[in-house]
Amino acid sequence: MTAPIIGITTGRITHKSGTRWTGIPESYVQAIQQVGGLPILLPYGITREDLQALIPHLDGILLSGGGDIDPRYFKGDHHETIDDIMPDRDQLEVGLVRYAAQNGLPFFGICRGCQVINVALGGNLYTHIPDQYPNALRHKNLPEEKGTHLAHSVTLEEGTLLLRVMGATHARVNSRHHQAVKDVAPGLKVNAYAEDNLIEGVELPDHPFGLAVQWHPEWLVDDPAMLALFQAFVDAARKTSSDKR
Ligand code: MN
Repeated sequence: MTAPIIGITTGRITHKSGTRWTGIPESYVQAIQQVGGLPILLPYGITREDLQALIPHLDGILLSGGGDIDPRYFKGDHHETIDDIMPDRDQLEVGLVRYAAQNGLPFFGICRGCQVINVALGGNLYTHIPDQYPNALRHKNLPEEKGTHLAHSVTLEEGTLLLRVMGATHARVNSRHHQAVKDVAPGLKVNAYAEDNLIEGVELPDHPFGLAVQWHPEWLVDDPAMLALFQAFVDAARKTSSDKR
């Protein structure tokens, strides 16, 4: 049986030689491969026409981590720390989320991906947690903290897909974000909160698989509960794939 094809959104990396690369950390690619998916990278500059031609071949979309979303998408407060805005990437990802939500195409958001999903469906963000959310935990990793560093715990909400997949009401997670979901988009449901009550995940009920977490499970796949997120996503994509054929 053909592996389900998972389109992974990409960011821009500037190599130390000054050359720009399109890509993402390989932990995303490996996590999808580990659970039987076939990852392909979606360049952020892809045209609308090419995307329309490509979408029927995709069985799932992974919205990866990255820089900040342009606040014009959600009328968010400008903040001096907002950086790494990529208009092409914002446009692609917002369009992909709306398409996937409306058409039952499985989608999984990680970190920035969680924020993009909320914004694309009509929610908004804290544009800099430390200045806008009183008594927040430190959600932004220190430069010396590795991707596997467990920064805080999350409580999973009863009755959510996230809890069904991970199988426990609490998890220790990494945390590498300075923005977060503020007002939840209509139709989305919160599935996890940090100890400071900041939203750490959302999902779309009555959809084959529309789920997002604010942490980075792709760094934590040695934890079976984290790997289970990728497995459930790819399994949903496989089902979508077989339904199409
Ligand atoms: Mn966090």
